[in-house]
Amino acid sequence: MDLGIAGKKALVCASSKGLGLGCAEALAEAGVDLVMNARGEEVLEAAAADIRDRFGVLVQTVVADVATEDGQKAVIDAAQGVDILVTNAGGPPPGMWTDWDRDDFIKALDANMLAPIALMKALLPGMMGKGWGRVVNITSVSVKAPIAVLGLSNSARAGLTGYVAGTARQVAGQGVTINNLQPGIHATDRAVSLDTGASQAQGISYDEAQTQRFATIPAGRYGTRQEFGATCAFLCSQHAGFIVGQNVLLDGGATNTTV
Ligand code: NAD
Repeated sequence: MDLGIAGKKALVCASSKGLGLGCAEALAEAGVDLVMNARGEEVLEAAAADIRDRFGVLVQTVVADVATEDGQKAVIDAAQGVDILVTNAGGPPPGMWTDWDRDDFIKALDANMLAPIALMKALLPGMMGKGWGRVVNITSVSVKAPIAVLGLSNSARAGLTGYVAGTARQVAGQGVTINNLQPGIHATDRAVSLDTGASQAQGISYDEAQTQRFATIPAGRYGTRQEFGATCAFLCSQHAGFIVGQNVLLDGGATNTTV
Protein backbone atom coordinates (compact mmCIF):
# COMPACT_ATOMS: atom_id res chain seq x y z
CA MET A 1 0.00 0.00 0.00
CA ASP A 2 1.30 3.47 -0.85
CA LEU A 3 1.01 5.41 2.39
CA GLY A 4 0.98 8.70 0.47
CA ILE A 5 3.48 10.46 2.74
CA ALA A 6 6.69 10.37 0.68
CA GLY A 7 8.51 13.70 0.95
CA LYS A 8 7.01 14.59 4.31
CA LYS A 9 9.19 15.19 7.38
CA ALA A 10 8.89 13.54 10.80
CA LEU A 11 10.39 13.96 14.24
CA VAL A 12 10.71 10.58 15.94
CA CYS A 13 11.82 10.89 19.57
CA ALA A 14 13.86 8.25 21.40
CA SER A 15 14.47 6.44 18.14
CA SER A 16 17.95 4.90 18.21
CA LYS A 17 16.55 1.56 19.41
CA GLY A 18 13.37 -0.35 20.08
CA LEU A 19 9.89 0.88 19.23
CA GLY A 20 11.01 4.40 18.30
CA LEU A 21 13.51 2.92 15.84
CA GLY A 22 10.75 0.71 14.40
CA CYS A 23 8.64 3.82 13.76
CA ALA A 24 11.59 5.69 12.19
CA GLU A 25 12.36 2.77 9.89
CA ALA A 26 8.75 2.35 8.75
CA LEU A 27 8.34 6.07 8.08
CA ALA A 28 11.63 6.13 6.16
CA GLU A 29 10.45 3.16 4.10
CA ALA A 30 7.41 5.28 3.19
CA GLY A 31 9.77 8.02 1.94
CA VAL A 32 9.58 10.33 4.96
CA ASP A 33 12.64 12.45 5.90
CA LEU A 34 13.50 12.18 9.57
CA VAL A 35 14.74 13.98 12.63
CA MET A 36 15.88 11.20 14.95
CA ASN A 37 16.66 11.69 18.62
CA ALA A 38 18.23 9.74 21.48
CA ARG A 39 20.52 10.39 24.42
CA GLY A 40 23.49 8.30 23.25
CA GLU A 41 25.33 9.64 20.19
CA GLU A 42 27.03 6.47 18.96
CA VAL A 43 23.96 4.25 18.69
CA LEU A 44 21.86 7.11 17.30
CA GLU A 45 24.38 7.91 14.55
CA ALA A 46 24.65 4.22 13.62
CA ALA A 47 20.84 3.91 13.39
CA ALA A 48 20.60 7.09 11.30
CA ALA A 49 23.35 5.94 8.91
CA ASP A 50 21.64 2.58 8.47
CA ILE A 51 18.31 4.26 7.64
CA ARG A 52 19.95 6.65 5.14
CA ASP A 53 21.62 3.66 3.44
CA ARG A 54 18.54 1.49 3.28
CA PHE A 55 15.86 4.06 2.40
CA GLY A 56 17.67 7.04 0.85
CA VAL A 57 15.84 9.62 2.97
CA LEU A 58 17.33 12.63 4.73
CA VAL A 59 18.04 11.96 8.41
CA GLN A 60 19.07 14.64 10.90
CA THR A 61 20.08 13.58 14.42
CA VAL A 62 19.65 15.36 17.73
CA VAL A 63 21.47 13.96 20.76
CA ALA A 64 19.32 15.09 23.67
CA ASP A 65 17.32 13.91 26.66
CA VAL A 66 13.78 14.64 25.57
CA ALA A 67 12.58 14.53 29.18
CA THR A 68 14.42 17.81 29.89
CA GLU A 69 13.51 21.35 28.83
CA ASP A 70 16.89 21.80 27.09
CA GLY A 71 16.43 18.51 25.25
CA GLN A 72 12.94 19.48 24.14
CA LYS A 73 14.23 22.83 22.88
CA ALA A 74 16.95 21.08 20.84
CA VAL A 75 14.56 18.65 19.14
CA ILE A 76 11.92 21.34 18.57
CA ASP A 77 14.52 23.61 16.92
CA ALA A 78 15.56 20.80 14.58
CA ALA A 79 11.98 19.78 13.88
CA GLN A 80 10.56 23.09 12.67
CA GLY A 81 8.13 22.45 9.82
CA VAL A 82 7.62 18.73 10.48
CA ASP A 83 4.41 17.11 9.26
CA ILE A 84 4.63 14.13 11.61
CA LEU A 85 5.55 13.84 15.30
CA VAL A 86 6.15 10.56 17.08
CA THR A 87 6.71 11.08 20.81
CA ASN A 88 8.57 8.54 22.90
CA ALA A 89 10.96 8.28 25.86
CA GLY A 90 12.18 5.51 28.12
CA GLY A 91 9.68 4.15 30.63
CA PRO A 92 9.92 4.62 34.41
CA PRO A 93 11.42 1.88 36.59
CA PRO A 94 9.28 -0.81 38.26
CA GLY A 95 8.69 -0.88 42.01
CA MET A 96 6.10 -0.92 44.77
CA TRP A 97 3.61 1.83 45.55
CA THR A 98 5.47 2.37 48.83
CA ASP A 99 8.71 3.15 46.94
CA TRP A 100 7.67 6.30 45.12
CA ASP A 101 7.78 9.85 46.38
CA ARG A 102 7.10 13.17 44.71
CA ASP A 103 10.43 13.33 42.87
CA ASP A 104 9.85 9.90 41.29
CA PHE A 105 6.45 11.04 40.02
CA ILE A 106 7.89 14.30 38.68
CA LYS A 107 10.54 12.34 36.72
CA ALA A 108 7.90 10.01 35.26
CA LEU A 109 5.59 12.90 34.41
CA ASP A 110 8.44 14.81 32.75
CA ALA A 111 9.41 11.88 30.52
CA ASN A 112 6.08 10.25 29.72
CA MET A 113 3.51 13.05 29.95
CA LEU A 114 4.93 16.58 29.97
CA ALA A 115 7.57 16.00 27.25
CA PRO A 116 5.03 14.79 24.66
CA ILE A 117 2.69 17.62 25.64
CA ALA A 118 5.48 20.20 25.20
CA LEU A 119 6.38 18.79 21.78
CA MET A 120 2.76 18.81 20.65
CA LYS A 121 2.29 22.37 21.89
CA ALA A 122 5.35 23.50 19.92
CA LEU A 123 4.75 21.58 16.69
CA LEU A 124 0.96 21.38 16.28
CA PRO A 125 0.60 25.01 15.14
CA GLY A 126 2.88 24.40 12.13
CA MET A 127 0.87 21.33 11.13
CA MET A 128 -2.44 23.13 11.60
CA GLY A 129 -1.16 26.04 9.50
CA LYS A 130 -0.50 23.60 6.64
CA GLY A 131 -3.85 21.87 7.14
CA TRP A 132 -2.21 18.45 7.55
CA GLY A 133 -0.38 16.68 10.35
CA ARG A 134 -0.04 13.45 12.27
CA VAL A 135 0.95 12.85 15.89
CA VAL A 136 1.48 9.40 17.34
CA ASN A 137 2.38 9.03 21.01
CA ILE A 138 3.96 5.79 22.18
CA THR A 139 2.24 5.08 25.50
CA SER A 140 1.61 1.61 26.93
CA VAL A 141 -0.87 -1.18 27.46
CA SER A 142 -0.65 -0.04 31.10
CA VAL A 143 -3.12 2.75 30.26
CA LYS A 144 -5.78 0.18 29.43
CA ALA A 145 -4.89 -2.47 32.00
CA PRO A 146 -2.62 -1.49 34.91
CA ILE A 147 0.72 -3.20 35.42
CA ALA A 148 1.01 -2.99 39.20
CA VAL A 149 4.81 -2.76 39.38
CA LEU A 150 4.77 0.04 36.81
CA GLY A 151 2.69 2.47 38.89
CA LEU A 152 4.74 5.43 37.71
CA SER A 153 4.04 4.48 34.10
CA ASN A 154 0.35 3.77 34.78
CA SER A 155 0.00 7.25 36.25
CA ALA A 156 2.00 9.38 33.82
CA ARG A 157 0.67 7.72 30.67
CA ALA A 158 -2.92 7.93 31.85
CA GLY A 159 -2.38 11.68 32.21
CA LEU A 160 -1.06 11.96 28.65
CA THR A 161 -3.96 9.89 27.37
CA GLY A 162 -6.48 12.22 28.98
CA TYR A 163 -4.73 15.23 27.44
CA VAL A 164 -4.73 13.64 23.98
CA ALA A 165 -8.40 12.71 24.20
CA GLY A 166 -9.39 16.35 24.44
CA THR A 167 -6.68 17.95 22.33
CA ALA A 168 -7.17 15.56 19.39
CA ARG A 169 -10.72 16.91 19.06
CA GLN A 170 -9.50 20.50 19.11
CA VAL A 171 -7.05 20.09 16.20
CA ALA A 172 -8.83 17.55 13.97
CA GLY A 173 -10.65 20.30 12.08
CA GLN A 174 -7.30 21.55 10.75
CA GLY A 175 -6.41 18.18 9.24
CA VAL A 176 -4.23 17.07 12.16
CA THR A 177 -4.77 13.75 13.90
CA ILE A 178 -3.38 12.72 17.29
CA ASN A 179 -3.50 9.07 18.35
CA ASN A 180 -1.70 6.85 20.85
CA LEU A 181 -0.11 3.47 20.29
CA GLN A 182 -0.29 1.19 23.32
CA PRO A 183 2.48 -1.42 23.16
CA GLY A 184 2.13 -4.68 25.00
CA ILE A 185 5.30 -6.71 25.36
CA HIS A 186 7.70 -6.20 22.45
CA ALA A 187 11.12 -7.73 21.91
CA THR A 188 13.24 -4.67 22.78
CA ASP A 189 15.80 -3.78 25.46
CA ARG A 190 12.85 -2.80 27.67
CA ALA A 191 11.52 -6.37 27.51
CA VAL A 192 15.00 -7.75 28.30
CA SER A 193 15.22 -5.52 31.36
CA LEU A 194 11.72 -6.47 32.58
CA ASP A 195 12.46 -10.19 32.04
CA THR A 196 15.75 -9.82 33.91
CA GLY A 197 13.89 -8.14 36.78
CA ALA A 198 11.27 -10.92 36.84
CA SER A 199 13.91 -13.67 36.82
CA GLN A 200 15.80 -12.03 39.70
CA ALA A 201 12.63 -11.38 41.72
CA GLN A 202 11.43 -14.98 41.34
CA GLY A 203 14.85 -16.69 41.44
CA ILE A 204 14.34 -18.33 38.03
CA SER A 205 16.38 -18.23 34.83
CA TYR A 206 15.95 -15.53 32.21
CA ASP A 207 14.57 -18.09 29.73
CA GLU A 208 12.05 -19.33 32.30
CA ALA A 209 10.92 -15.77 32.97
CA GLN A 210 10.49 -15.18 29.23
CA THR A 211 8.60 -18.45 28.73
CA GLN A 212 6.26 -17.47 31.57
CA ARG A 213 5.54 -14.15 29.86
CA PHE A 214 5.05 -15.76 26.41
CA ALA A 215 2.36 -17.92 28.04
CA THR A 216 0.41 -14.78 29.05
CA ILE A 217 0.10 -13.68 25.40
CA PRO A 218 -2.44 -15.47 23.16
CA ALA A 219 -0.12 -14.87 20.18
CA GLY A 220 2.52 -16.87 22.13
CA ARG A 221 5.36 -14.44 21.46
CA TYR A 222 6.49 -10.83 21.86
CA GLY A 223 5.71 -8.20 19.24
CA THR A 224 8.43 -6.90 16.95
CA ARG A 225 9.56 -3.34 16.40
CA GLN A 226 8.82 -3.80 12.69
CA GLU A 227 5.14 -4.65 13.34
CA PHE A 228 4.91 -1.72 15.73
CA GLY A 229 6.54 0.66 13.26
CA ALA A 230 4.25 -0.40 10.42
CA THR A 231 1.20 0.40 12.55
CA CYS A 232 2.68 3.79 13.40
CA ALA A 233 3.36 4.52 9.72
CA PHE A 234 -0.22 3.61 8.84
CA LEU A 235 -1.55 6.02 11.50
CA CYS A 236 0.69 8.68 9.92
CA SER A 237 -0.52 7.90 6.41
CA GLN A 238 -2.98 9.66 4.13
CA HIS A 239 -5.41 6.78 4.77
CA ALA A 240 -5.72 7.42 8.51
CA GLY A 241 -7.16 10.95 8.47
CA PHE A 242 -10.45 9.86 10.07
CA ILE A 243 -8.76 8.10 13.03
CA VAL A 244 -8.83 10.75 15.76
CA GLY A 245 -7.95 10.49 19.45
CA GLN A 246 -7.73 6.70 19.49
CA ASN A 247 -5.65 4.30 21.57
CA VAL A 248 -4.44 1.39 19.49
CA LEU A 249 -3.46 -1.67 21.48
CA LEU A 250 -0.67 -3.89 20.08
CA ASP A 251 -0.41 -6.71 22.60
CA GLY A 252 -0.92 -10.06 20.84
CA GLY A 253 -4.30 -10.41 22.58
CA ALA A 254 -2.83 -10.27 26.09
CA THR A 255 -5.39 -7.80 27.45
CA ASN A 256 -8.59 -9.77 27.89
CA THR A 257 -11.19 -7.18 26.89
CA THR A 258 -14.07 -7.23 24.41
CA VAL A 259 -13.74 -3.58 23.32
P1 NAD B 1 14.08 0.77 24.49
O1 NAD B 1 14.72 0.82 25.82
O2 NAD B 1 14.31 -0.41 23.63
O3 NAD B 1 14.47 2.05 23.62
C1 NAD B 1 14.44 3.26 24.18
C2 NAD B 1 15.00 4.27 23.19
O4 NAD B 1 14.68 5.50 23.74
C3 NAD B 1 16.47 4.24 23.02
O5 NAD B 1 16.75 4.67 21.72
C4 NAD B 1 16.95 5.29 24.03
O6 NAD B 1 18.17 5.89 23.66
C5 NAD B 1 15.86 6.28 23.91
N1 NAD B 1 15.56 7.10 25.08
C6 NAD B 1 15.14 6.65 26.28
N2 NAD B 1 14.89 7.70 27.08
C7 NAD B 1 15.15 8.82 26.36
C8 NAD B 1 15.07 10.20 26.63
N3 NAD B 1 14.69 10.64 27.83
N4 NAD B 1 15.39 11.08 25.65
C9 NAD B 1 15.77 10.64 24.44
N5 NAD B 1 15.87 9.34 24.13
C10 NAD B 1 15.56 8.44 25.07
O7 NAD B 1 12.53 1.02 24.81
P2 NAD B 1 11.28 0.46 23.99
O8 NAD B 1 11.02 -0.94 24.38
O9 NAD B 1 11.45 0.80 22.58
O10 NAD B 1 10.09 1.31 24.66
C11 NAD B 1 9.71 2.56 24.19
C12 NAD B 1 8.61 3.07 25.10
O11 NAD B 1 7.50 2.16 25.06
C13 NAD B 1 9.05 3.18 26.56
O12 NAD B 1 8.44 4.28 27.16
C14 NAD B 1 8.49 1.90 27.16
O13 NAD B 1 8.26 2.01 28.54
C15 NAD B 1 7.19 1.74 26.37
N6 NAD B 1 6.73 0.37 26.37
C16 NAD B 1 7.51 -0.63 25.88
C17 NAD B 1 7.04 -1.91 25.90
C18 NAD B 1 7.88 -3.06 25.37
O14 NAD B 1 7.50 -4.21 25.57
N7 NAD B 1 8.98 -2.80 24.70
C19 NAD B 1 5.77 -2.20 26.43
C20 NAD B 1 5.00 -1.16 26.93
C21 NAD B 1 5.50 0.14 26.90
